[in-house]
Amino acid sequence: MRQGIGVLLAENTDTLANETVEHYPACYAEKIMRKPAGFRERSGEILISKKRRIIMARRRIIAGNWKMNKTPSEAVALCAELKDLVKNDAVDVVYCVPAIDIVPVAEAVKGTNVHVGAENFYIEDKGAFTGEISAPMLKEAGVEFVIIGHSERRDIFGENDILINAKVKKAFASGLTPILCCGESLALRKAGTYKEWIKRQIEWDLTDVTADQVKTLVIAYEPIWAIGTGETATADQAEEVCAMIRETIAEMYDAATAEAVRIQYGGSMNAGNAAELLSKPNIDGGLIGGASLKPDFGQIVNA
Ligand code: PEP
Repeated sequence: MRQGIGVLLAENTDTLANETVEHYPACYAEKIMRKPAGFRERSGEILISKKRRIIMARRRIIAGNWKMNKTPSEAVALCAELKDLVKNDAVDVVYCVPAIDIVPVAEAVKGTNVHVGAENFYIEDKGAFTGEISAPMLKEAGVEFVIIGHSERRDIFGENDILINAKVKKAFASGLTPILCCGESLALRKAGTYKEWIKRQIEWDLTDVTADQVKTLVIAYEPIWAIGTGETATADQAEEVCAMIRETIAEMYDAATAEAVRIQYGGSMNAGNAAELLSKPNIDGGLIGGASLKPDFGQIVNA
């Protein structure tokens, strides 16, 4: 049996001291910095308690990116419409909403399983930055997550990886969890260089970010050609890149960090394709645009 735990693949399982253990090649041992309880080494292989691996499994995270949609009253109405549909104790559900909707949405989702996210912020706490919103403002309003580096911010508003990296560090320093977006254009996909491009984005955007921070990070793989186009990456295409992102994290940090980081797919995910995408071992959730504004979002949460 081969089962993925992040970048690690178990060769098979057996029973040791009445406990089911999975076997992994010994070369992974040095990558596991913090050996979990149930971790054992034997010549040529390492063994990890299956029970422990299940405990280590990543929690699914489904986030809506409302973009520039919904007035405050429409936002509150959408929260009411989705309230029962998005109930699921096993999933982190996040609404990333326009700045003006944050306060009413935070009020509307109080006492539910929904977390509030922002779509953007600026790296300074306060001052002469007309039109911007700061991390302390978001925190006080009840925001827990913030989207950083969405392709629309990169392409329409000219955000580059230096600013995106500064935003990731500022978000962590402020107690916000970044949802860091990466992904390739259609031209890069066709040229076949998309994996190198995404690897570079991850390396730039996580410069000087610590392993402990990355363990709590959410990365959204969003091929630009699939955003808002109705064209979805196939589950295999999405899994290929999400696995590569996890390998990049293992190379930059260690296997435990790669195992912990949550990676979403985003790009025309909908009620019809969510289950297949989410069944892949390296896809831990979704970042959803258009379908997050409809009852379909509940079906994606429960896919
Ligand atoms: C997005 O904007 O992050 C996104 C994935 O949009 P859509 O689901 O509409 O493609």
